[in-house]
Amino acid sequence: MDQQLQQEGYFGEFGGSFVPPELQEVLSYLSEQFYKFRDDPDFKEELSYYLREYVGRENPLTYAERLTKAWGGPKIYLKREDLNHTGAHKINNAIGQILLAKRMGAKRIIAETGAGQHGVATATACAMFNMECVIYMGAEDTRRQALNVFRMELLGATVVPVHKGQGRLKDAVDEALGDLVRNYKNTFYLLGSAVGPHPFPTMVKHFQAIISEESKRQIIEKEGRLPDAVVACVGGGSNAIGAFAHYIDEPSVRLIGVEPDQAPTLTEGVPSIIHGFKCLVLLDEEGQPKKTYSIAAGLDYPGIGPEHSDLKVKGRAEYAAVSNEEVLEAFQELSRTEGIIPALESAHAVAYAKKLSSTMSKDQIIIVNLSGRGDKDVEQVYQMLK
Ligand SMILES: *Cc1c(COP(=O)(O)O)cnc(C)c1O
Repeated sequence: MDQQLQQEGYFGEFGGSFVPPELQEVLSYLSEQFYKFRDDPDFKEELSYYLREYVGRENPLTYAERLTKAWGGPKIYLKREDLNHTGAHKINNAIGQILLAKRMGAKRIIAETGAGQHGVATATACAMFNMECVIYMGAEDTRRQALNVFRMELLGATVVPVHKGQGRLKDAVDEALGDLVRNYKNTFYLLGSAVGPHPFPTMVKHFQAIISEESKRQIIEKEGRLPDAVVACVGGGSNAIGAFAHYIDEPSVRLIGVEPDQAPTLTEGVPSIIHGFKCLVLLDEEGQPKKTYSIAAGLDYPGIGPEHSDLKVKGRAEYAAVSNEEVLEAFQELSRTEGIIPALESAHAVAYAKKLSSTMSKDQIIIVNLSGRGDKDVEQVYQMLK
């Protein structure tokens, strides 16, 4: 890897690429291709075509009038990633990476998935672009998420249950990386969040930055000024980094990431290397990545994207944790007041926005990134409330 790319893979002390040499070779080539196509006018035009015609962008920045009234503080705007095709932000990244894969001549896409959401987004994009699709999933997860396995199969993907190790996400990632090293000539590894070794965090941010590119333009059209705060939930950190991207250089805008209080990576993590990159990680007493648990499957990850780690250490972004009770209340309150059932992940951002709004004034503005819709979570919430 040349020195320049090496530097570009770092966010302060975080990020980088800590992988075996044979994988490094594949990643260095990927990185080179990404930088080559990222600013290519044909590539940009193709991407914006599919984002418009297939994903349904741009999506609205909705003024939540009743919620604003109920909370009695700043104006609340919702960035509606829930309205994208497949119901969340993940498709932005899946389409971007698949277009890159196509340019690179790949015929086969592989991905890992935990709860299945990234697997479904990937299988969707593969169906659209007629790519062979193989999804690695921990055997334990395939049992718990049988319906998502069926969704991926309906979309034409092959789901490979991974029995090694504990049969969980980490084992699925290892299998997918092994596949990539063996088959890199025709295979592209489509990673689902702003994590992993370089160039993945940079690439995923690039494809998710459309969220704040739109919201910034929209808030200026509607209010004639920037928001005072942008709030987003963080799992690996992709919807949050996309929602923050175009405000990072606007110091008047507070950037706030929200995590479950049972997986408080950014509030309690320490610098460490996990899955081939350096970030803040939750460790147990033995120094191993902690087993996390969240009612929102998409937030259940012991690490966090390297750029968030750096934004936190530099103090440019703030990170807060909310409890399950607060999340469940926010899930119901948004449904009742706005007629929008949020994903449990997104309900974390709503829950924190409520607390934040009580510290702000009526002439201020908060943008909440609604990363996804809650249809997938309705049955689970029903069981929890019963
Ligand atoms: C996967 C997912 C998340 C968490 O992933 P990030 O990479 O942190 O964005 C959040 N919200 C929804 C709806 C998801 O599907």
